[in-house]
Amino acid sequence: MNVVVTRPIPDAGLNLMRELYNVTVHDDTLMSEDELCDFVKGADAIVSLITEKISDKVMAAAGDQLKIIAQFAVGYDNIDLEAAKKRGILVTNTPGVLSGPAVAEHALNLMFAIARHTVPADAFMRTGKYSQWDPNLFIGQQLTGKTVGIIGTGQIGSIFAQACHNGLRMKVLYTDMNRNERLEKDLGAMQVEKEQLLKEADVISLHVPLLPSTKHLISDHELSLMKDNAILLNTSRGPVVDEIALTKALKANKIFGAGLDVFEFEPKLAEGLAELDNVVVSPHIGSATGAARLSMAECVARNVVTCLQGLEVPNLVK
Ligand code: NAD
Repeated sequence: MNVVVTRPIPDAGLNLMRELYNVTVHDDTLMSEDELCDFVKGADAIVSLITEKISDKVMAAAGDQLKIIAQFAVGYDNIDLEAAKKRGILVTNTPGVLSGPAVAEHALNLMFAIARHTVPADAFMRTGKYSQWDPNLFIGQQLTGKTVGIIGTGQIGSIFAQACHNGLRMKVLYTDMNRNERLEKDLGAMQVEKEQLLKEADVISLHVPLLPSTKHLISDHELSLMKDNAILLNTSRGPVVDEIALTKALKANKIFGAGLDVFEFEPKLAEGLAELDNVVVSPHIGSATGAARLSMAECVARNVVTCLQGLEVPNLVK
């Protein structure tokens, strides 16, 4: 059977699949939809990355033997789930339990970087501007004891909440369509309406999937409710934040700053964002630790192998 992998993933996962199947790995160049259609022809399994749109046309081009689209990521908003369902093709992901600690740690990384001006302070040193200790230099925010608001308390949001509460004694507010009794019991977290969270939180961290209902979850109105000292973190998906509205708010110092790992027009930044000092940006590296990527690769291979062997497939996307 044939497995096609749209871009290279760690060898550990590829080797597991190579023991059983013909595995073809595309190189790191992005494919157009037509190129993708050519590439997947005859595949029994497609291993996809978030950079490839797996449309109905791509599934049709693969052929009727296609059994599974195994996404190498938590999020799967690049896959047409309806089309897959209609065609009887399984879709799996690599759930947040594998990459969650890495993504939550990166959200903390962005939070501290904004609170303490780490990036401009680093540039200040490197360009020889530091001449003497100055009590007014790069005054930041202490976060201990402040309030964190988590939007989406699934795998990653929960780990982030635990780190903020257990490490920094932060009060935890959250919004989610589901109640998270564990966070309430362990951390004293309070489920509140989004408006209350936006008004009261000093740090707001987004951990929702990209869905029609979460697109622009943060836009002009939401930004206008936030405190002047608020720090917004987005390690979920870019379009969850209206990046043009955010750029405007940051430019006007409406909030203290933003730490972004994902972008509405990824890989591009909204116009004007790159010029601002109160934003820290990283190239979608939330899960980029050796341990997380290794377990994601092994997980993808398990998803593919179980499917092609006719066994029960873990990590099915609903
Ligand atoms: P998860 O499914 O465990 O949690 C998502 C949570 O969001 C769930 O509790 C769900 O009920 C909640 N939710 C959904 N819609 C909501 C809404 N409108 N309002 C409030 N809550 C809502 O997922 P996870 O593993 O925690 O991952 C979250 C997201 O993080 C992924 O969907 C993915 O897009 C993103 N992610 C990013 C990176 C990165 O590299 N930056 C890595 C992994 C995952």
